[in-house]
Amino acid sequence: MPSGKTPAEVWKSARQSKPIQCVFRLLKAMAGKRERCMYCEDSHGADIEHFRPKTSYPNHMFTWENLLLCCTECGRFKGDRFPLKDGLPLLVDPTAEEPWQFLDFDPTTGNIVARFDPALGDWTAKGGVTVEILHLNSREALASGCMKTYRRLKALVESATQQPAPNPRELEKSLQEADDHGLLGWCFAGTGIHTEPFSTLRKTHPRAWQHLQDSYFSANKMPMQAHGKREHEEEPRAKGAKHAKD
Ligand SMILES: [Zn+2]
Repeated sequence: MPSGKTPAEVWKSARQSKPIQCVFRLLKAMAGKRERCMYCEDSHGADIEHFRPKTSYPNHMFTWENLLLCCTECGRFKGDRFPLKDGLPLLVDPTAEEPWQFLDFDPTTGNIVARFDPALGDWTAKGGVTVEILHLNSREALASGCMKTYRRLKALVESATQQPAPNPRELEKSLQEADDHGLLGWCFAGTGIHTEPFSTLRKTHPRAWQHLQDSYFSANKMPMQAHGKREHEEEPRAKGAKHAKD
């Protein structure tokens, strides 16, 4: 690092600079009106978090793809933790991956847990590590918030299944407004598709179901494309760190 400063010191002095303040505002704008943390989608995004920790990956300290909006709690739990397996991150990257491929929602407790992969006969390693690092299965406020959101989504879908021909666009709008915790991904791209009342909607109203699933996937392509795709093969502690210019 220049001037003998540690990565933490470099970041601390850059954090208040205009370019980094602008990045923070942009991340909040991209997170939507709720400005939720990109890891837990429960608490308010309070700061910029480095997906690859700045201490081990100083050359990623100012890389756009490495900067996430994060709540205080997730930031504290994650800290500098960033385990790899075969050179690839074991933490779910919320900007480049569908989290519900690796995570599951437990409707009996409200907890976020690792997703079981029947092909492996085991829980996904990435899901397990992500849950463990961020304590997603033991945060009371997170579980309580997820349960409230789940009940709202469930009630809306239950009501739709009882209608002969629910309006897919109106249903989509109501579900999006009710989804405070990103659980629509679990309903339409995760194991929720096999759970009542979502599985019933899928069978009894396939067109509405298809519309909801398509709209979920198309809506979630946009932030991923805008935020770019990460490169996963770089070695930590690479030389030639870049720094923000004030
Ligand atoms: Zn969080």
